[in-house]
Amino acid sequence: MTDAVDDFGFEHVPESDQSFENALAKARDGDRLTVADGVELLTTGTDTGGIDTARKEQVLEAADRRRAEVVGDEVTFVANLNNNVTTACNTGCLFCNFKDTAANFERGSGVDHPGFTKTPEESRAIVRDALERGIYEVTSVSGLHPAFALDDEHHEILASYDSPANEVNYKPPERYDTDPGTYLEQMRAMSRDGAHLHSMTPEEAYHAIRGTDWTYEDAYRRLRDAGLASVPGTAAEILVDEVRDVICPGKIDTQDWLDAMEAAASVGLPMTATIMYGHVDNEMHRVMHLKEVRDLQDRTGNITEFVPLSFVHETTPLYERGVVDGGASPAEDELMIAVSRLFLDNVDHVQSSWVKYGDERGLKMLSCGADDFMGTILSEEITKRAGGGHGEFRSFDEYVEMIRAVGRVPVERSTDYEQRRVVEGDGPHGPTLGPRADGTPLLSPAERETATDAASADD
Ligand code: SF4
Repeated sequence: MTDAVDDFGFEHVPESDQSFENALAKARDGDRLTVADGVELLTTGTDTGGIDTARKEQVLEAADRRRAEVVGDEVTFVANLNNNVTTACNTGCLFCNFKDTAANFERGSGVDHPGFTKTPEESRAIVRDALERGIYEVTSVSGLHPAFALDDEHHEILASYDSPANEVNYKPPERYDTDPGTYLEQMRAMSRDGAHLHSMTPEEAYHAIRGTDWTYEDAYRRLRDAGLASVPGTAAEILVDEVRDVICPGKIDTQDWLDAMEAAASVGLPMTATIMYGHVDNEMHRVMHLKEVRDLQDRTGNITEFVPLSFVHETTPLYERGVVDGGASPAEDELMIAVSRLFLDNVDHVQSSWVKYGDERGLKMLSCGADDFMGTILSEEITKRAGGGHGEFRSFDEYVEMIRAVGRVPVERSTDYEQRRVVEGDGPHGPTLGPRADGTPLLSPAERETATDAASADD
């Protein structure tokens, strides 16, 4: 939480009538925690200001023990490619520097910008190359391009509005330098030949039905039939509307996000869930968010992992406009991972995002309750463009070395955790779970050197 937080006059603040000691005892006993319990653990007691180091260690220890009981000592990772279709977006979220104003992408805008849009054919070629290398998961999260529609019928409906740009955030593809195709075309392009396509956040699903009377269930069923295999529960940010109103007023609200996720689950799609914290939110908001996720999991059972994402503040509008003065502290990050593990008693896996935390802190999170360590990420525009500066690619050899160095067991997993392989022996190591994966490293030594140089240049 930053100093600026008081300026918002939030209704929800970190207060409780529970004691830290009682909350810790419940956590140690494995009892289901209340929101008050979670707030006590996340604040290390609302009876004291700041974070109490000794109490923090007690919370981390309880979470680490719970992790060992639930999933043992294995640390998982996945061989994945990030293929984001477009950076064109005009939603204007204040924490985001991924988007580029969509008007810049219009023909004849004359604006020189670093953004991109890929056609379905281009997406297809990128995925084909990645599959050849051994990748099996394709993660795709994109900006809300005004020309993106679910299919041709959706284009017609959107174009029939009197003022499509203003009423339904739509402009026809001809207005743009590059046509992203339809969502269904992109799904087909990215899911061919055995790739597991992880895409269509609740916010993208909303974009895919905007201006129609179609339901989220309609959309996810059709997307699934076109190749979508699982859904990233991003765009969640903080699932408390008073926070969303400040950081992403153009996005769907909490209830819409939950409705979309339930719809995805109802058509049989596995999904992840996230939290993006450390901006204007406080500890009460974070625990209220955890409660929404736990309730959603009670209703669906489809959430495979929970991913805490620490806000990377550099070069975001929230920071540049002085709304926040930084992100979460390392102690807050550790407690967020730990309380996620303890509160979410119905979600097996908690991810440590090295892209957000960096390598050293990312590894530390594995002893705070986390058991998953992301994926190889052959391309990662989002964090790079927000100034994360932690490189873009992680080889299997690096994963194995890092995980063994902290005394844990490296395990290659499929997106849904159904397939798992303990990585044994000396390297070089590569993926084996993909349709073309034979254990060969994803990049050759020469390519690896180039990738490392590129990552360094970004720092
Ligand atoms: S977070 Fe997503 S919806 Fe919001 S501005 Fe960025 S790309 Fe657009």
